[in-house]
Amino acid sequence: MVRKVVVTFPAGSAGRSLTYELIKKFDIMFSIIKADIDAGRRGKLVLELDADEDRIRKAIKYMEESGVEVSPLESKIKYDSTLCISCGACTSSCLSGALSIKAPDWKLVFQPDKCILCKLCLTACPLRLFSTEFAD
Ligand code: SF4
Ligand code: SF4
Repeated sequence: MVRKVVVTFPAGSAGRSLTYELIKKFDIMFSIIKADIDAGRRGKLVLELDADEDRIRKAIKYMEESGVEVSPLESKIKYDSTLCISCGACTSSCLSGALSIKAPDWKLVFQPDKCILCKLCLTACPLRLFSTEFAD
């Protein structure tokens, strides 16, 4: 199974070799979807964990017992394509490339699999067409 989680490190512990431990102790495959870590401050990772349910559960328990906050990435972005005028304002906010406008039709394309849930598009769109909803 694959599960996306938000991992928040307390200040001063962002340098922990968490990713190494996930592999070594629990044999978990993972991808770092987003990283926001500064020395001496709280750090945040969005991870996609890939393993069976039991190993993921144990890994999450281990991280929590190590003082790391783990929460499910439970919302997703949706937008009302019927009202979109393809002005492109949202694409410059979308650093992951989930939103793009390209030739030949110059219409907005949303690729949810690239979305890192930064929510910048919620305020970037002048028509406020973006919102969040719970993931399936
Ligand atoms: S939430 Fe962020 S990554 Fe996702 S579509 Fe909006 S701007 Fe792009
Ligand atoms: S900013 Fe809003 S109206 Fe403009 S392209 Fe993006 S979704 Fe469409």
